[in-house]
Amino acid sequence: MLTMAPKGTKDMMPEEAYKWQYIEKVFADVCARYGFSEVRTPVFEHTELFIRGVGDTTDIVQKEMYTWEQGKRSLTLRPEGTSPVMRSYIEHKKYAEPQPAKYYYNIPCFRYEKPQSGRLRQFHQFGVEVFGAKSMMADAEIISLAYEFLRELGIKNLTLEINSVGCPDCRKEHRAALKEFLKPNYDKLCDTCKDRYERNPMRIIDCKSPECQKLVEGAPMMLDYLCDDCKKDFDELQENLKAAGIPFVVNPGIVRGLDYYTKTAFEFVTDTIGAQGTVCGGGRYDHLGEELGGPEIPGVGFGLGKERLLLVMEASGIEIPENKPVNALIAYMGEEPKRAAIKLAAELRRKGLAIEIDCMERNFKGQFKLADRVGAENTVIIGEDELASGKVSVKKMATSQQIEIPFTLEDIAEAIK
Ligand code: ATP
Ligand code: MG
Repeated sequence: MLTMAPKGTKDMMPEEAYKWQYIEKVFADVCARYGFSEVRTPVFEHTELFIRGVGDTTDIVQKEMYTWEQGKRSLTLRPEGTSPVMRSYIEHKKYAEPQPAKYYYNIPCFRYEKPQSGRLRQFHQFGVEVFGAKSMMADAEIISLAYEFLRELGIKNLTLEINSVGCPDCRKEHRAALKEFLKPNYDKLCDTCKDRYERNPMRIIDCKSPECQKLVEGAPMMLDYLCDDCKKDFDELQENLKAAGIPFVVNPGIVRGLDYYTKTAFEFVTDTIGAQGTVCGGGRYDHLGEELGGPEIPGVGFGLGKERLLLVMEASGIEIPENKPVNALIAYMGEEPKRAAIKLAAELRRKGLAIEIDCMERNFKGQFKLADRVGAENTVIIGEDELASGKVSVKKMATSQQIEIPFTLEDIAEAIK
């Protein structure tokens, strides 16, 4: 047990970590091009933030949070990114500055779930949020950002599905119709959904239990109940997406798992990685700010699961380049050459070159093997003879061609660049 990571968590060893670095860099680059700035919030928050911000009828709050008492406080490991980022925006009074605010984040999240492929207890998300903009321009901007990111990674087999979940006004009517529809089968609902039936029946559509899934077949859909304003915005969003050249399908069945969502809801889904097919999920949440005790702050954002993203890339056969150039290995033999090698390695590294040096003090043969193993482009050889003559040998590993050059920093740097 001592040497095993807890269930639902994963180490990222170097063989995998370089892939994470790659997608993180692409994401940061795309965000910069769209004018989004990074926000970093704490890994834990007051429990109340998630109860209010995520909603106490959600799976997250009802079953999945890592919560503990510390002194008089209840604290919770962040299960998602939107509430903390909104909390930070309110705390720092960013709403008083020119709007909108455009943020992105790159975070670990924690949910106590049944671990399976693409579902972990510590997982990782990219996300973006636009605060302060009511217009469907913002919704189209973030969908375009996600689309561009996925396109840049070379992912082709993801489908964008969009829906509108309306606003509190038009949801009332849908809610009544949905309850009417489910009433005859109330007893067959799972316990969680029995509770949702009164408090938030739309969430029943999103229940993972197969029983409940069957019961909601043919249920009234929110799209048929949209008020004029919500309908206008949903049309507007579709026009904006068409203008951006982003293909999409309308899926009236998308209900985001979180209560504060209004209007736009969307997902990027795939059927290539099994059951956990939603790689990116997002939407609009115009009432989260007030819910958290701030002013009215329209907001729209998405969360994108990095583990699922990597699974899709793997399933699509996308190779991530392991970009690890090693300009040279400095091989040494003998005490004086060793010190000379240490000095040379430090100076070359200071010049920006990537240099390997053997920490095992192997013989020349062992050091040449090491040069091959780390993929060094050159080996610089320093022995007693070389030191005495003021020369070093540089071997090009690709051709095995060996040249002798003066032992100066400039000459060596030039030779191995
Ligand atoms: P699901 O329906 O799959 O449980 P969700 O609605 O709970 O997803 P969100 O809260 O919208 O998910 O989170 C955004 C994204 O984070 C998801 O689309 C998914 O890619 C990823 N994600 C969510 N939960 C997990 C998890 N336990 N392990 C790995 N990735 C996850
Ligand atoms: Mg979930």
